[in-house]
Amino acid sequence: MCGAPPRAPRCTAAGAPCPGCGAWSARVHGSYVRFPADVPSGGRSVVLRLRVRRFTCRNAECGRRTFVEQIPGLTRRHGQRTERLCSTLAAIGLALAGRAGARLANIFGAPVSRSTVLRLVDALPEPEVPAPRVLGVDEYATRKGRYYGTVLVDVETRRPVDLLPDRESSSLAAWLAQRPGIEVVCRDRAPFFAEGAAVGAPQAVQVADRWRLWHNLSEAAERSIAQHRQCLRVLVPETPGTPETESDPAEESSGSPRPTSHRFADRTRTMHVTIHDLVKAGHSRRAIQRQLGNDKPNRQTVRGRRQAGRPLHRPVAGPDLGPRQVQDIP
Ligand SMILES: [Zn+2]
Repeated sequence: MCGAPPRAPRCTAAGAPCPGCGAWSARVHGSYVRFPADVPSGGRSVVLRLRVRRFTCRNAECGRRTFVEQIPGLTRRHGQRTERLCSTLAAIGLALAGRAGARLANIFGAPVSRSTVLRLVDALPEPEVPAPRVLGVDEYATRKGRYYGTVLVDVETRRPVDLLPDRESSSLAAWLAQRPGIEVVCRDRAPFFAEGAAVGAPQAVQVADRWRLWHNLSEAAERSIAQHRQCLRVLVPETPGTPETESDPAEESSGSPRPTSHRFADRTRTMHVTIHDLVKAGHSRRAIQRQLGNDKPNRQTVRGRRQAGRPLHRPVAGPDLGPRQVQDIP
């Protein structure tokens, strides 16, 4: 049966305060119907149908002639969603961030874009974070190799405290100067962090972070082992009659007489020998890259090998072995 749609519910208050001057007004100028989206129910979207009134501001000194009433806790000016839906979506965004948050909200019946989820999170008021006693300082990259910022972490609670848009010592010093309660600054070996901590928090003790200590230790161990390579050769003599059955398959493939269980180092050595053979045969850099297929070395590797006199060997392969630490075995 068809009939007239039910009348939209409206606020029962007699008037509303002007958002411009705060003056109370009950003089109705007009009204219209709003449709703010509300928290979904049973997996289905819910849209409210509200009649809101436009009042006339009677204050002659106020810049507003008219204003629309807002229902506290439910609507806001120009808002397409109710306050409770906004806070629900912001909570989802805090837990899951934009893309995953939008997917979950869609499942619950509140279709929303990931940008909106992030915007609602961004609109939340900044939480009050107490100044940490032990502060961890490190860098982060928004684009690796080009744009870096500084992340500040409360080491005791293991929670991030703040992000600085750059990694300048002056920015860190200014941040630290506003928080005199910091007793320990835990940082890496970057000189700008050392300077910033010394200027901004002269009272604080500066310590190296745990990763840096382990890294230094592993570097020292690598250097020490590399210096004593000759001792290893004495312990494992290079006898031609070594039984093949006891050797590692990776060693067999490379034909290396040295005892190494590191397949990556072996593969690198094999690739360098191949590059050398191809260079000797007169192949160009591009041709060598093409021929090596899946084990394709980059242009710098091919160029370096072409310029080197003989194949490279890695004495000790570690996770952080940089190009400067690669050495020739005499
Ligand atoms: Zn006013």
